[in-house]
Amino acid sequence: MIANLFLSKQQMKKVNYLVKNLAKFFLFALFFSSFILAENNPYIIVLGVAQDGGAPHAACEKECCEKLWLDRSLHKKVSSIAVVDPNIKEFWIVDATPDFPEQLEYVKQLTGFNFKGVFITHAHMGHYSGLLHLGREVMGAEKIPVYVMRKMKNFIESNGPWSQLVELNNIELKELSNDFEINLTENLSIKPFLVPHRDEFSETVGFQIKSVKSLIFIPDIDKWSKWNKNIISIAAKNDYNLLDGTFYNIDELPGRDMSEIPHPFIVETMKIFKSSSAKKSVYFIHLNHSNPALDSESKERKNILKKGFNVAKFGDKFYL
Ligand SMILES: [Zn+2]
Ligand SMILES: [Zn+2]
Ligand SMILES: [Zn+2]
Repeated sequence: MIANLFLSKQQMKKVNYLVKNLAKFFLFALFFSSFILAENNPYIIVLGVAQDGGAPHAACEKECCEKLWLDRSLHKKVSSIAVVDPNIKEFWIVDATPDFPEQLEYVKQLTGFNFKGVFITHAHMGHYSGLLHLGREVMGAEKIPVYVMRKMKNFIESNGPWSQLVELNNIELKELSNDFEINLTENLSIKPFLVPHRDEFSETVGFQIKSVKSLIFIPDIDKWSKWNKNIISIAAKNDYNLLDGTFYNIDELPGRDMSEIPHPFIVETMKIFKSSSAKKSVYFIHLNHSNPALDSESKERKNILKKGFNVAKFGDKFYL
């Protein structure tokens, strides 16, 4: 009887072997399931990183664009992101840029998903002019939802050629409210928030896109000090922060009054984030053609990375 309560050495070996392999199996399953989970989570794709005029910039004969005119592979598309939900196989684009045709096609080919609408930050050429491709002359789209704030909505409705998109039902304008979140799907939401900027034709917003994780997209803003919110605490609450990196520093456009085109210089943003651990979540986007950090080999780009910040790149993916 007593002998039966104990396992033989050989049996013990077998049990050990089984336990070890079972543990390995569970670890593997855990790793694999988290991978699958991440793969199924909504995500953001960076579709462009340049300021409104792109790079190279019309008529620029300076060093910043010299190489780019000779080599198309070095061209940088205008800043925009795609919001993709693989669960329902749909995607949205934030900002309809002059590069909209290639940006739309890139996401379609990459994912094979359906294009479900556009969100617009403001009425500066790099952020809404791509809407024209939805019109009669090109796509002849049918009621593509275009999400905009009130002034932007009025601007589109009352000015040609944009108004024709509404009259012909190529687009369907959906009005957003400041700080009011809308659900795109069960586990994906987007929220606009007002930011200070040169608002000649519309207000300007940034967006927070949220699922399990969250991302902030602010391609255009005047100086951080002009905002009634604190960018450091906002950044700390979000996993990824794609922030206005239009100019590297004040010396960038000699002969031009920089106060007419106020943006937080990258060096200023790096200074205010200096002692915040949120800096690793900052990705500069919307870089002007003159911004040396647009060139991945420049000492300015290396300095940004060395200080613990990032520069957004075309095709970057952020899982939410
Ligand atoms: Zn812009
Ligand atoms: Zn240039
Ligand atoms: Zn702007």
